[in-house]
Amino acid sequence: MGKTLAGKVALVTGGSRGLGAAIAKRLAQDGAAVALTYTSSPQKADEVVLAIEAAGGKALALAADSADVEAVKHAVAETVNTLGRLDILVNNAGVIAFGLIDQFSMDQFDRLVAVNIKGVFVATQEAIRHMGEGGRIIMIGSVSSDSTAFAGVSVYALTKGAIASFTRGLARDLAPRGITVNNIQPGPIETDMNPAEGDFADGLKKITALGRYGQSDEVAGLVSYLASPEAAFVTGANLKIDGGFTA
Ligand code: NDP
Repeated sequence: MGKTLAGKVALVTGGSRGLGAAIAKRLAQDGAAVALTYTSSPQKADEVVLAIEAAGGKALALAADSADVEAVKHAVAETVNTLGRLDILVNNAGVIAFGLIDQFSMDQFDRLVAVNIKGVFVATQEAIRHMGEGGRIIMIGSVSSDSTAFAGVSVYALTKGAIASFTRGLARDLAPRGITVNNIQPGPIETDMNPAEGDFADGLKKITALGRYGQSDEVAGLVSYLASPEAAFVTGANLKIDGGFTA
């Protein structure tokens, strides 16, 4: 049986570590050629590319800070120039900063909005210029857009709430072109951003019905489904994968 994404090209923002690296590898395993962006970890990005190539796939690492409009535009253009087309965009790159509202600086606020919202807008606007029927926009939002388990994450939650709303509106905008738009909202997933042995880990595990962190590969499996032709009727959905964190 042929691979579900054979002949397709995907761009995963923030693909050097964590969820993005797992997603890039999974889409490559499904047959897509994959471009991935990074900002501070060229070596890790190269490792992801080498792992994909060692498994027989095709990949490309691109330095592009999601907060930098021109860099994001360039990454989309480079993906199309080098890999020939663009079918799937995974808006995964994201940052978090903790702080109660009275302690949160404007610089922190601007950075979260620039990476988590503006970067998603620019990548999406550029990517859809190249997408045809069957295109896929997949956001990596967060359960925090619907549920805030503890204090100090209000601005992060604000940015992820924006992504949930953006997803619904975009699904309407792009449906006539046969492009679906969906938002995956993970609960606690073990990555550098949210280590399973970190300060918040015990509290998060207690709230989670399954009593454990999720793994990046588990989220990548849902991305794989949404990217596949089988998911053609799923659009405008905000899908939680959170081990019952919000159950
Ligand atoms: P990590 O911090 O482990 O990895 C972040 C990835 O994004 C890295 O590849 C990093 O690149 C890249 N990145 C960070 N900032 C930028 C930027 N400005 N421009 C381009 N790339 C950037 O995070 P996770 O894998 O945990 O998170 C991935 C996404 O999932 C985020 O959107 C996050 O909000 C979301 N999420 C995570 C959850 C979790 O529990 N882990 C839960 C819910 C949502 P580099 O290596 O170069 O720094």
